[in-house]
Amino acid sequence: ITSKLPNVGTTIFTRMSQLAAEVGAINLSQGFPDFAAPAALCDAVGRHIAAGHNQYAPMTGLPALREQVAAKVATFYGRAVSADSEVTITPGATEAIFCAIQAVVRSGDEVIVLDPCYDSYEPSVELAGGRCVHVPLALPGFSIDWQRMKDALSPRTRMIILNSPHNPSGALISRAELDQLAELIRGRDIYLVSDEVYEHLVFDGVGHVSVLAHDELYARSFVVSSFGKTYHVTGWKTGYVVAPPLLSAELRKVHQYVNFCGVTPLQWALADFMAAHPEHLAELPAFYQAKRDLFCDLLADSRFTFTRAAGTYFQLVDYSAIRADLDDVAMSEWLTREHGVAAIPVSVFYREAPKDLRLVRFCFAKREETLRQAAEKLCAI
Ligand code: PMP
Ligand code: GLN
Repeated sequence: ITSKLPNVGTTIFTRMSQLAAEVGAINLSQGFPDFAAPAALCDAVGRHIAAGHNQYAPMTGLPALREQVAAKVATFYGRAVSADSEVTITPGATEAIFCAIQAVVRSGDEVIVLDPCYDSYEPSVELAGGRCVHVPLALPGFSIDWQRMKDALSPRTRMIILNSPHNPSGALISRAELDQLAELIRGRDIYLVSDEVYEHLVFDGVGHVSVLAHDELYARSFVVSSFGKTYHVTGWKTGYVVAPPLLSAELRKVHQYVNFCGVTPLQWALADFMAAHPEHLAELPAFYQAKRDLFCDLLADSRFTFTRAAGTYFQLVDYSAIRADLDDVAMSEWLTREHGVAAIPVSVFYREAPKDLRLVRFCFAKREETLRQAAEKLCAI
């Protein structure tokens, strides 16, 4: 067979998690919590299975859950969206992103992605017959480089994929950046995917800037989120897309034949939990900020250097003072094998990483005990 995705192998997340398990390292590589999801949420799944909620959900998602998403969007971003025509529940944000891309991108179209970027974007674009144009974010803050963005635009540009809070850097997009983007693409036939899966993991009292709060951009956007990150259930692979009615209709044509619908009892449980526990969303930033601060305070005694993540559950660290001779892939393996802590190299999120990049990513969505054990090992290096 001639591969349609010749450059795709096993993802770095799978490889590093496997290596961590193999050598018994503390796994701070792949992003997922090592603590329990809320008991009330887990109990609700069993209750709904027992109650017979075991057949197909509606293709667009359970109405009760779509209503909860619409209510949340109104509360957090001040936008009234229709639960019927603008909210679609998907089996994970990954499927949502894939469907949005398939719905819009045609053969020969260009899609601008901002490197470093999440690994699912490019294969999804390629399967649609499109081509990714990689625009590196400006270091050290991972902000948009407007000159390079302008240079990347062409008559073939059909989509731009944004991600804020940003994996792997934790950087946040600002309202001024959204305004600048709106100005740049005004009058052009360009759509946005705004990957906001870490929307509730924003720290230091800074609110999340959502495309949902930007009238002009929302009109051409698919805004994607994931219950996995917000409710500590990454394995449930349940997410959603909010998009204007015409865009939602096109996305649903694809979603209908990729998966048809998400898992029914999980959707019921999430709808119940969201209705009964609105405080969960309010408490989440402080919950994760405490983990970030614990991890960073402990690492202050190490030879790693870093700026605290503004959002997400990832912390980047620079290891130049420890092993500047190693590239970040080799460093991640060395940390895992020799020091018992698994990390993710940042260069894998780039098409062409800066040669002198000496950054690895740690996930701090972990119990205090895990973070302390990992930090102890990292401080001993
Ligand atoms: N986008 C980004 C930036 C992510 O980090 C993740 C998490 N793996 C996803 C999308 C996919 O989310 P999900 O697990 O809901 O498919
Ligand atoms: N989003 C997760 C991360 O960045 C990984 C998800 C996956 O394994 N595909 O670590």
